[in-house]
Amino acid sequence: MTITLLENLWDEAKAAGMSEPERLLYRSNLLGSDKRITNYGGGNTSAKVRERDPLTGESVTVLWVKGSGGDVGTMKLDGFATLYQDKLEQLRGLYRGQAHEDEMVGLLSHCTFNLNPRASSIDTPLHAYLPYAHVDHMHPDAVIAIAATGRSRELTREIYGDEIGWLPWRRPGFQLGLDLSRFAAENPNAKGVVLESHGLFTWGDTAQGSYETTLRIINRAIEWFDQQLAGKPAFGGEKQPARDAAERRAVAARLMPEIRARIGGAERKIGHFDDSPAVLEFVGSQRMEELAALGTSCPDHFLRTKIRPLVLPYDGDVDAVVAGLDGAIETYREGYRAYYERCRHDNSPAIRDPNAVIYLVPGVGMLSFAKDKATARIASEFYVNAINVMRGASGVDTYQGLPEQEAFDIEYWLLEEAKLQRMPKPKSLAGRVAFVTGGAGGIGRATAERLAGEGACVVLADIDAGALDAAKADFTKRFGADQVRGVIANVTDEGAVAKAFEAAVTEFGGLDILVSNAGIASAAPIEDTTLEVWNRNIDILATGYFLVSREAFRLFRRQKLGGSIVFIASKNGLAASAGASAYCTAKAAEIHLARCLALEGAEAGIRVNTVNPDAVLRGSKIWSGEWREQRAASSKIGEEQLEEHYRQRSLLKRSVFPEDIAEAVYFLASDLSAKSTGNIVNVDAGNQISFTR
Ligand code: NAD
Repeated sequence: MTITLLENLWDEAKAAGMSEPERLLYRSNLLGSDKRITNYGGGNTSAKVRERDPLTGESVTVLWVKGSGGDVGTMKLDGFATLYQDKLEQLRGLYRGQAHEDEMVGLLSHCTFNLNPRASSIDTPLHAYLPYAHVDHMHPDAVIAIAATGRSRELTREIYGDEIGWLPWRRPGFQLGLDLSRFAAENPNAKGVVLESHGLFTWGDTAQGSYETTLRIINRAIEWFDQQLAGKPAFGGEKQPARDAAERRAVAARLMPEIRARIGGAERKIGHFDDSPAVLEFVGSQRMEELAALGTSCPDHFLRTKIRPLVLPYDGDVDAVVAGLDGAIETYREGYRAYYERCRHDNSPAIRDPNAVIYLVPGVGMLSFAKDKATARIASEFYVNAINVMRGASGVDTYQGLPEQEAFDIEYWLLEEAKLQRMPKPKSLAGRVAFVTGGAGGIGRATAERLAGEGACVVLADIDAGALDAAKADFTKRFGADQVRGVIANVTDEGAVAKAFEAAVTEFGGLDILVSNAGIASAAPIEDTTLEVWNRNIDILATGYFLVSREAFRLFRRQKLGGSIVFIASKNGLAASAGASAYCTAKAAEIHLARCLALEGAEAGIRVNTVNPDAVLRGSKIWSGEWREQRAASSKIGEEQLEEHYRQRSLLKRSVFPEDIAEAVYFLASDLSAKSTGNIVNVDAGNQISFTR
């Protein structure tokens, strides 16, 4: 078997012209670019740099160290905290012992150099008190696999000799900084330390030297495991083979809304599905249940994944899994509450959400749920790190999770709680999933933008692949790749609609909002209206709205969290208009369908409302083609006069834009309108013929 070792990516020419802080950033980004070196947001790097003090003009040593939060792989220079090294040294004299170590965190800001607003991380002492100019603290799966074995001290020695030391597990903080300092003083030739159940520290005199040592030490662990594990089946061998891809997806699509229904009451959750080979190997293995029960090891892992996952046995009968969900989820919660009660201290923060984050389904994969997509995805990635750790550790020795009390003390650490309290209030649609048909068009795109801006995950469904790609790319840039998905679907095609909803569910875990907006317009006197034109209007505007609503209803009912459907109809659905009977009739059908569905969905908390736009020219593809010419001709004006013509026709004498429609949709889609259903909101700058009555 060939193994891929970490590659030295240091570019001498590139680094040569950099300042020391820039080289630190360069090294950090290189290290963080490979998840085998450290997980997302995990680990930190530092450099002790000579700088000119802005107050005295003297040359002083400044510790540049990754600040609180952030990710070494993607951080910029402003992600580093900067602290006077001599002031940090003075803190040693203020330290009152381990029982008081949390108070030292508050003192770190007194050491700030150059008014840098970046908050210092609790890991700062782990860098400050090592007598080396450059320090890397990483969470490499291969090294944590050593650190998480019962014999981690012996194995560290066997693999690294004197070059790398070993320290017993200790929560990061001031005391661990002092432990590292003592270790370095007593072992001047060591190049680093493995910290039990946690990760790796390595150091050097130059940025490049530190980087290369870090890579070399991790590569040695990778090679060592490769030799040890060669020919041995992972996790005791296979128990349940992976199902084929379509079945895995179908099972995920069935289970995710059911799980969301049961855990999303207090705080709506977004789901993530992973059926990568590493996950399938673990979930289908002989030893999965036993290892999963031991919990994850590295604190970074379980803060994201909770100490252990919930296993949902599956033998081909998904109904049986659904039938057992209430019991399985409640048993997990009881276990979590019992853990909290066993481990809590008098001043512990109140118990948090007792639901599992990670769900393992043998033969199918892993589902994860969190308050937003990025958090659910990252939790899943962290569990993959934990799987890698378990694969290595259990293959060479006994794997051990972190002792329960230690895990609790980190999870409910007052400093961790303070961090949570500082988090901004969630946006109004955080945790919600919205499906927008015609999402690549003028009104659909503006609506999806409004909903995404409020924190919703959006699925843009459209028949126009080019426009969809452009919209998706733009959304990704503005809201991040996690929050948006694009799916090509013709709303008149029953199978395509079902597939598009399945995609939405496997991507985000469920659905809360449907905006049925896909549409066209046509105009012709009745005697010139071909059957083809008539059918096209009915197909897209009536049947298409029926098909997507039916799919949403099915999903909403299984999910039991209510739901909101908003139809984009038209003034022409209320007001008759000569020369556009097919369009007007189809739009009227839409409006009546919405009212029927409002009646039918009310008992399940499903609200159905309609927004009627009129004359939204900007951004609309409808208004860029034949319709535009026809409307101009029928009003006997030039096309360039249309906008003004409609403005003057309105009661309020104002133009209507896609954002105006989006605002009404947002109101009807969100809890702001929790007590409204069966309504029609006209957004047309006022038009007496469309007044509702
Ligand atoms: P638009 O053409 O810019 O957007 C409509 C989108 O729907 C397009 O991206 C198109 O590709 C998509 N679409 C068309 N047929 C589809 C199908 N079969 N399956 C999936 N997607 C399909 O037009 P717009 O102005 O944004 O219109 C949006 C909705 O608003 C339509 O229902 C329209 O009837 C309605 N409306 C618009 C106006 C207006 O003045 N713009 C007025 C009243 C009603």
